[in-house]
Amino acid sequence: MPAVARETTQPCPECGAEIRGDSRFTVWCAACDWNVDPGEPQPAGGRLERVERALARRHGEQLLAEMLSGREPQPRRDANAVLATALALAVHGVTLALVVGGIWGVMADWGGSPWIGFVLFALGLGLAPRPDPLPTGTPVLFRTDAPELFALVDEVAAAVGTRSVHAIAVDGSINAAVTTYGVRGRRLLVLGIPLWEVLSPEERIALLGHELAHYANGDIRNGLVVGSAVRSLALCHHALQPIEHPSAIETVVNVVYVVPRLLIRGLLVLLLRLTSRAGTRAEYLADRLAARTASTQAAVGLMDRLLIAGPIAVLLRSEVNRATLGGPRAAREAASRADELWDRLAAYAASVPEHEYERQRRAGARRGHQVDATHPPTHLRRTCLLTGTPATAALTPDPDRTARMAEELAPSRTKVAQTLLRDGLGA
Ligand SMILES: [Zn+2]
Ligand SMILES: [Zn+2]
Repeated sequence: MPAVARETTQPCPECGAEIRGDSRFTVWCAACDWNVDPGEPQPAGGRLERVERALARRHGEQLLAEMLSGREPQPRRDANAVLATALALAVHGVTLALVVGGIWGVMADWGGSPWIGFVLFALGLGLAPRPDPLPTGTPVLFRTDAPELFALVDEVAAAVGTRSVHAIAVDGSINAAVTTYGVRGRRLLVLGIPLWEVLSPEERIALLGHELAHYANGDIRNGLVVGSAVRSLALCHHALQPIEHPSAIETVVNVVYVVPRLLIRGLLVLLLRLTSRAGTRAEYLADRLAARTASTQAAVGLMDRLLIAGPIAVLLRSEVNRATLGGPRAAREAASRADELWDRLAAYAASVPEHEYERQRRAGARRGHQVDATHPPTHLRRTCLLTGTPATAALTPDPDRTARMAEELAPSRTKVAQTLLRDGLGA
């Protein structure tokens, strides 16, 4: 990607309208949509993720149509949610039966040896829900490390009507998320620095509002019962993947795995289908709460930034490549000036012209730009925000706090840049 923006003009090969462009971006025609979506690579991901993505898209369209026609999306606990909870409880029930049956089998010497019981016990243990640990290999901040950032998160949490978080992990993703960790289910917010750095202070409040709203909405996909069942099943599904280039014995193992793997995949797809609509609704509601917290304008601004997540990833990749292809000396030098990565990224994001945002919106409408498999397409979220009366901000950024937050985040920001420059994206 050329670093310097150059204005270009050319006639559209389809309709002849004049196209004004920027040498860094795809040239396309706003009059006839020529070249609006020149086959950008589809996000990778396994089969299950593709199912999830397609469901989020379908329900995203349905729910938006309902909202645009003045109907409120259905109540939170619909029949599907009850069914999903029942299914998840059944999964946990089987797990418990395996553990208890296994212990019993060992004690009673089923089949004349403790082995049958032991195998059942191990299977149950493998399926048992376990708390996620705190992330490693990336900075994790606690209240004392970043009092100003936590103060802002606390205020946003109060505004959306939920408890605040215990820890904030900072990583190199162009995304943000909320989750829990440890046996006590403590709350963890994950902030991707590449996204945080390109947002305005208002848009950051919108991002925090959206994420914390997921706790307030009680999103069933991440709930204690369904969420843990999905995680257990996904782990099992992963463990049962066929062994590549198998030996004779491994071929037998692969054959034995087929039926349980199909069964588990079926269960997972069923759980995804049952929870996708409620999950998509939770995303729209989270966007609405984000708008009430930070203003509709800030929430729409956040959507626009998410739309250029693709170009941002391309820029990051080219910066990382430049650092790593130049040999160890260039890499060391780049790491010593790691912070510059964020300055270049922010400058780049600020320079993206409106016609590129518009192209991403139109391309998104054709192929469905999604932040990840669980979010409805970004252009739909944007449309949803723009319907109805615009909300004013409940919280406005304080410049002093913004500066102090930047100081608190500075060491983590450097560390994340160094990790990116050393290990590349997706590490
Ligand atoms: Zn044209
Ligand atoms: Zn979300």
